[in-house]
Amino acid sequence: MRLDKLLANMGFGSRKEVKQLLKQKAVSVDGEIVKDASMHVDPNKQDVSVYGETVQYTEYIYIMMNKPPGVISATEDLFDQTVIDLLDPLAQHFSPFPVGRLDKDTEGLLLITNDGQLSHNLLSPKKHVPKTYYAIIDGVVTEEDKAAFLEGVELDDGYVTKPGELKILKSGPQSEIELTIQEGKFHQVKRMFEARNKKVTYLKRLSMGSLKLDESLSLGEYRELTEKELDALK
Ligand code: URA
Repeated sequence: MRLDKLLANMGFGSRKEVKQLLKQKAVSVDGEIVKDASMHVDPNKQDVSVYGETVQYTEYIYIMMNKPPGVISATEDLFDQTVIDLLDPLAQHFSPFPVGRLDKDTEGLLLITNDGQLSHNLLSPKKHVPKTYYAIIDGVVTEEDKAAFLEGVELDDGYVTKPGELKILKSGPQSEIELTIQEGKFHQVKRMFEARNKKVTYLKRLSMGSLKLDESLSLGEYRELTEKELDALK
């Protein structure tokens, strides 16, 4: 990896700022002062120091975001702001991407990382990673809906869903529910309720596998996963 990219990734400023550091002879590789920004280094094998302090290199970044509505779960979009646009430049240096998608109007837990293997494991249909959503539903949600979801409902394209666990928090003209599903078809929660002639008017993801939304994060806020959260997820 290029020395300037490594230092930028590790929080030593933009590539331009890193160049200044190099000019100031602040950077050494295996004890030798280096001024060449394009030098290739292997941070796992070589000691990179700034002002004599070894740089602790990490390859991956793991972020939990409370996704706000109106933002796209993608790395780039021609028209709308993306979840990546909400990250600070240091986090963006890692080229992270969202693990799976939440609809533009859906809120809540979104994992953002550059760890392709973890992302693959969490999204693989074979792994059945459960995802729990809180939703407000236009219509009276009943025990029949609960039974139907447990059985599997037929979506508009003929696909029959795997068993989903429905918890009715409040049943009325505006119902409140929690639904846990083990797959991630396009608009799945909304389409499952459509199959029951009901409409989701608000949707928020609460958890994905062992990872639970940190409710102290306001909409649009994010933080890195703790070691414990990451270990549990892997
Ligand atoms: N199901 C949906 O319908 N939308 C989401 O954003 C996530 C799950």
